[in-house]
Amino acid sequence: MEEIPLWYWLAVFFALGACVGSFYNVIVYRMPRGISLINPPSHCPLCKKRIPIRYNLPIVGWLWLRGKSACCHQPISVIYPIGESLCGLLGALALFSSVVVVGGAPLNAALFSAPVHDPAVWAGALAMAWLLLGAYPVCAVDCKYKLIPDSISVGGIVAGILISLVPGGLSPFESLLGAGVAGGGLYLVGFVASKILKKDAMGFGDVKLLAGYGALMGLTGAVETLIVAALLGILVMVPYGKLRRSEDGSGQIPFGPFLAVAAPFMFLWGETLFNLYVTFVLGE
Ligand SMILES: [Zn+2]
Repeated sequence: MEEIPLWYWLAVFFALGACVGSFYNVIVYRMPRGISLINPPSHCPLCKKRIPIRYNLPIVGWLWLRGKSACCHQPISVIYPIGESLCGLLGALALFSSVVVVGGAPLNAALFSAPVHDPAVWAGALAMAWLLLGAYPVCAVDCKYKLIPDSISVGGIVAGILISLVPGGLSPFESLLGAGVAGGGLYLVGFVASKILKKDAMGFGDVKLLAGYGALMGLTGAVETLIVAALLGILVMVPYGKLRRSEDGSGQIPFGPFLAVAAPFMFLWGETLFNLYVTFVLGE
């Protein structure tokens, strides 16, 4: 394990990401149709035959079959392997960005053949993998159904606490503190705002999602994420909200996607951004 080069681990992270993407494909197909995720096992939607496991492998299965089902030779949408490849790339990107930003490794070809020793890089890679791969379902589900899946928000709290057991990253105390204070703080803000505005100002899904980010990134990271997400939200919402209001008068936009997009950037560059802000805006 000690001398395994980075390129190998990048391939592993790509494969794991592709498997997550494959699972997303299953969810996207089954959830709206009310089919359980586990039972029945993978079957052809057209002729109902079972799909053998080798054809179920992400990306490889589709290439193997050249985009046609083995059972009834019907075309399988290219969207499936594309989704899996994108998730694979996000997995590899999680590790690569952690090696470069958290580990501070110089960008050159020798990087790929060097082993990864720093445990902080592994902790960062796992947190980034969760943030990047979790961003997709948060965006998709929040935009479509106006809710944030607990598996990502509450799951993020659990994942953050587990990752904090890896030495070099956040300590378990920082992780718990991040979850509790970031989630609790946003809940209070929402509670006060809804009393003043006399309507629900903040969904509980956003509170749980930010608590998850607190567990993964610590309190500072979660606060930075909230601030950047709110700024992004204002930038997008002002023109978009005007458009929408003319149609149905509601113009309500989910906040989850802004948090999900801001989080991985703040995980990597939150501190840099904060230092720039202190230097150039506060002039210290
Ligand atoms: Zn079939």
